Amino acid sequence: MTAQDLTAGQELLRLGGVTVRFDNPGGRPALDAVDLDVVAHEIVCVLGPSGSGKSTLLRVVAGLQQAHAGRVLLEGRDQAGVPTHRRGVGMMFQDHQLFPQRDVAGNVAFGLRMRRASRADQERTVAELLELVGLPGAQRRAVASLSGGEQQRVALARALAPRPRLLMLDEPLGQLDRGLRERLVVELRRLFQELGTTVLAVTHDQGEAFALADRVVVMQDGRIAQTGTPLEVWQRPATAFVARFLGFDNVVDATVQGEAAATPWGKVPVPDGTPDGPCRLLVRPAGVRLTPAEEGLPCTVTARTFRGTHVALLLQPAGGPALEAACALRDAPESGERVGVAFAAEDVVILDASAE
Ligand code: ADP
Repeated sequence: MTAQDLTAGQELLRLGGVTVRFDNPGGRPALDAVDLDVVAHEIVCVLGPSGSGKSTLLRVVAGLQQAHAGRVLLEGRDQAGVPTHRRGVGMMFQDHQLFPQRDVAGNVAFGLRMRRASRADQERTVAELLELVGLPGAQRRAVASLSGGEQQRVALARALAPRPRLLMLDEPLGQLDRGLRERLVVELRRLFQELGTTVLAVTHDQGEAFALADRVVVMQDGRIAQTGTPLEVWQRPATAFVARFLGFDNVVDATVQGEAAATPWGKVPVPDGTPDGPCRLLVRPAGVRLTPAEEGLPCTVTARTFRGTHVALLLQPAGGPALEAACALRDAPESGERVGVAFAAEDVVILDASAE
C-alpha cells in the first residue's frame, strides 16, 4: 500500500499515549504519553531542542524502537510486532549513508531491488526520481564525485523510490550549509506537494521546520508542548518554553486587570477578552514600539544587530528585564541612545502558565 492510495486528509499515522523509557531509573521518559496524528499528504515537522525525544519518536514509528506503553497505528492498523520492513515507511537520516561502492543509480534503486522490481521498472523509476530531485542523467556518476547537496538529493531519491506511504526525515538538511539548506527546503516542499508524499520530519532548526511544514509539533522533554501551523505557533507560542525556543525573550510575570496587565515594564495592553488575574506574558519584538524618549517607558539602547530585513535592538529600561525590539533599518537608533517604548496589544501573547 502506498501514500497514493489514500485521499488527502485521511488518517495515516496515529500515536496514542506512546511512552519510551531508557535505562535511567527515576529519570523522565524519552517519550512521555505522546499523542500525534498525521493525515495523508500532510507535512509534519517535529521541532525541539536536542534530547527532547524527536529521534525516538521517528524510531518508534519506524519500528526501530519499541514503545513501553501506547500504540502506533498506520492506516488504522496497530503496528505492535510489525517489523520495520513491513511498515511501508521510508527513512532518511542526517548522515544519509549512501553506498560508496555503488553509483547513483545503484543507490537510488536499492529499495526497488529489495522488492525484486524488474530491471526495466528500476531503470524507469530511477530516471524519474533523478529528474524530480534535479539530477537528471546522473545514474552512472560515482557517489564520491557528488557535492553534499547532490548526495542529499540522491539520498532523498533513494528514500522515495519504494514509494513509502510515510516518509520520515531525521534532520534531513542538518549537515549542509545555510544557503543550500534554504534552497533545498523550498524544493523539498514543492516536491512533496507534487508527489502527495506524507512526511514526518524532525529538526532542531525552526527556520527549516517553518519553511517545510504544514504543521509544526514542538517537543519538550519527551512531551508535545504545542502543535499548530507554522503561523499559529509563531504568532501564538503556547508556553514560555515555546516562546523562548523560538527566540522570543520578552517573557515576564504579569497581572491582568481589564485591558492591561501590570508588568515589570509598567502597564502593557492585552488582547480583548483576556481574563483578569496573574499570568505569564510575552511581548513579541514587533510589539515593542519606539517612541520619543520623553514618552512611553524610558530605555537605553544596549545592542543593535542588523538582521537583513530588520534591526534587532536590546533595550534596557530603568527597572525590569531587558526588552527586545525589532525595527526598520531607517528608524533604528544607535547603541547608547535613549528612547521611549510603547507596547502594541496585537503582539502581546498570554502564555499558559501551568506549563513551564
Ligand atoms: P532528540 O532527537 O530530540 O535529540 P532523542 O530522541 O535522541 O532526542 O533522545 C531523547 C532522550 O532519550 C535523551 O535524553 C537521550 O539521551 C535519551 N536516549 C535516546 N536514545 C537512547 C538510548 N539508546 N539509550 C539511552 N538513552 C537514550
